[in-house]
Amino acid sequence: MKIPIAKLSFWGVRGSTPTVDPATWRYGGNTPCLELIAPDGTQFILDCGTGLRMLGSRWAKPDGEQPAETHIMVTHYHWDHIQGVPFFAPLYAPDNEFHFYSFRSKYLGRDSLKQVFEAQMAMPYFPVDLSAMTATRKFKEVEGGESFHVGENKITARWLNHPQGCLGYRIETPAGVVVYATDNEPGNAELEKNLRELADGADIFINDAQYTPQQLATTRHGWGHSSWKEGVAAARDAGAKTLVLFHHDPDSTDRAVDTILRNARDEFDSVFAASEGMVITLGSPGDHVQAHLPGTRTAMRREAQFRALVSGVTEGGKPFEEETAVRDLALQGALITLEHAPRLQSELLVTMEAPGTDGKQTMRLRGYVVRIDAGEKGLSAVGVVFTD
Ligand SMILES: [Zn+2]
Ligand SMILES: [Zn+2]
Repeated sequence: MKIPIAKLSFWGVRGSTPTVDPATWRYGGNTPCLELIAPDGTQFILDCGTGLRMLGSRWAKPDGEQPAETHIMVTHYHWDHIQGVPFFAPLYAPDNEFHFYSFRSKYLGRDSLKQVFEAQMAMPYFPVDLSAMTATRKFKEVEGGESFHVGENKITARWLNHPQGCLGYRIETPAGVVVYATDNEPGNAELEKNLRELADGADIFINDAQYTPQQLATTRHGWGHSSWKEGVAAARDAGAKTLVLFHHDPDSTDRAVDTILRNARDEFDSVFAASEGMVITLGSPGDHVQAHLPGTRTAMRREAQFRALVSGVTEGGKPFEEETAVRDLALQGALITLEHAPRLQSELLVTMEAPGTDGKQTMRLRGYVVRIDAGEKGLSAVGVVFTD
């Protein structure tokens, strides 16, 4: 019997606007875009933020058969959720077929999403016009409260509390239930009820966690977003199993998101902070929910002296070999075998002894667990990214 497994990939997790500040690289700077491959092979894309470009560039590579049709759920029309559309390469290939789902905005009227496409590519905002987009595009309007099926999956949309409206989506697959509820602010009783109904018993509940509870209560009240604390409360009320903190504020550094995650973990058992490149599989036997994180692009340097043997070729073309000490080493991370299994996205302190030219030197590095695999003899192979 084939075990149904769903794969959820995070291509963009940042809210409001993309960030390129190195202090935000670990969680990532692209705006919202998720991909869910259901057990029946149906490909869903949730939102079209700048993360969509990355998804498209992977897709364009020749290896692997892609499904002929893709179903794209758009939550609302704020820039951070649609900005990736003109840069999504698969839209420029005639063999591809896309089904877009979104609501009729009272500001745009009929065919709201289609109009968004046209507006984004209108002169003088984009170098080529819509005729360059040769993929088949079909648009479906959905309403809050509506349910429909795609393949063997059931999709339900619900209104959330956000300026100019926003839909949350619940996707029920044979491997488990994924709920995507970005961009929502607590405080409206009816819409809070919607959020909880949407998240009812979900295996994965992705919720807006842009602000700290303090910000939400003061300077950011009314901006349409939520906090980790409200997410925990909703997850608890709804009986959701795993909470994913999403839509990180562009001003939140990796350190700030670490703190948000730590606070949430103090109050709820299973929480992750959405991170660009993170993949969650659902339905694997043994471990129902499994998360993996990619390595980071941040490099760091530490003063150290390692004895080294260097061989190469001189300017004159002569091979050489000499003994020396490496003084400045760029460190990104390490793979460490441990008897303990540390928690994913938790911090590790790694102390290393380096034999220097004048006695042993100690190097102390703070790391962040990005991956855990079963190693040999019951040990864990732990991927660590050094953070400072
Ligand atoms: Zn947003
Ligand atoms: Zn928004």
